[in-house]
Amino acid sequence: MKKVIFGLLIVAGTLIGCQENSSDMTNELQSKVDMSDFYVFTDEYGSKGDSNTKESRECHSMNVLNRQLKENSGLYKKMYDVEYNTRKFIGAKGKPTGTGGGGSGGGDSDVDVAIVPDNLGVINIPVYIHIVYPNANSISNAQVSSQMDVLNADFTNTNVSQLPSGTNFANDATNAGFSFSLAGTFRYDDPKASWGTNNSVKAAYPPITPETHLNIWVCNIGGGILGYAQFPGGAASTDGVVLGGEYFGVTGGVYGAGRTATHEVGHYFNLRHIWGDGRCRQDDFVADTPSSDSSNGGCPTFPSVSCKTADMTMNYMDYTYDNCMYMFTDGQRNRMRALFAPGGARFLMSGS
Ligand SMILES: [Zn+2]
Repeated sequence: MKKVIFGLLIVAGTLIGCQENSSDMTNELQSKVDMSDFYVFTDEYGSKGDSNTKESRECHSMNVLNRQLKENSGLYKKMYDVEYNTRKFIGAKGKPTGTGGGGSGGGDSDVDVAIVPDNLGVINIPVYIHIVYPNANSISNAQVSSQMDVLNADFTNTNVSQLPSGTNFANDATNAGFSFSLAGTFRYDDPKASWGTNNSVKAAYPPITPETHLNIWVCNIGGGILGYAQFPGGAASTDGVVLGGEYFGVTGGVYGAGRTATHEVGHYFNLRHIWGDGRCRQDDFVADTPSSDSSNGGCPTFPSVSCKTADMTMNYMDYTYDNCMYMFTDGQRNRMRALFAPGGARFLMSGS
C-alpha cells in the first residue's frame, strides 16, 4: 500500500512540477546509490606471496588506512561520502554489461564496464617532490624525471599488446586520461635513517597546497616497504604519497620500473587493491576487475585463478613485479575521474 501512495505522489509531483524539476526527480530515483557493500577497514594480510617475501610487493596504504580509522572517528564518514559521490558519478552509465564478474563473490568470463563520459579532458596533476635523505642529492633530477615519465605513460597507455593470449581483458584496459607535471623538487638533507609509515616525514616536511597538488615524499621507509598513499577523505596535512628511494623512478630491479608510484597514486585516486584486501566476497568496487582472494606476487603465468576466475595480475593495483603490471581498467578510470568532477574530493585539482 505504501508503494501505491508513494507512486501516486511521484505522479502528482511530475504533473505539478515544472519540466526540469520532474526530470531531476526521475534521475534521482533512477540513480539511487547502493552503499550496502561499502567497507573501509580491511584485512591487509593474506598475500599469496607471503610464503616467499621476495615475491610480494609491500604496500602499506591499507595498514596506514586502518590505523587512521582507529585514530580518527570522523574518517569513516568522510570516506563514505567520497564513495557515495563516486557511485553517483558512475551511476547507470558506468554499470557493467555481461554477467557476474567483479562484484562481490561473483565470477565469470567477461564483464565490460562503459567509460562514464565527462568533460574533464586530460586531467593534469601538478606534482611536488620532497626528497628526504642524509644526502638528498643522491636522488638525481634524472631519476625524478624518469618517474614523471612513467606516471605520464601509465595513466594514458592501454598496453593491450602486452596482454598474454587467453585473457579477455583487452576491452577493459583503459587510457585513464591523466597527465602529471613537475611543479617543484625540494631536497632536504636529513640524517634520519628510516621514516616508517606513521606519516612522520610529512610532519617534518609538510605538503605544499595539497588541495591542488599531489605531494610525493621520497625517503627511506624501512622494513622492505615500497610505499604508501593516503586515500581521498583523509587529512590535508598528510595527503599524498610516500615512496622508498630505490623504488622511485627507473632504478632497475623487479620493483625498479617506477610502478610503485603508479600503484600508490592509484590509491591516492581512490582505487583499492584488486582483491579488495579480503577474500572472494570482498570487492574493490570495480566491476571489470575479476574477484580475487588475495594478492599475486612475482610475475604470474596466466591464468592465476582464484574465486573461479583468472585474476587480473597485470593490473597496477595487484602486487606483481613492476614489469608484470601494465593496466588500469575502464571501471578504475571511472572511479578515479569521479574525484575530479564537481562535488568530487579532488575537484580543486581539476583546474576547473
Ligand atoms: Zn597498495
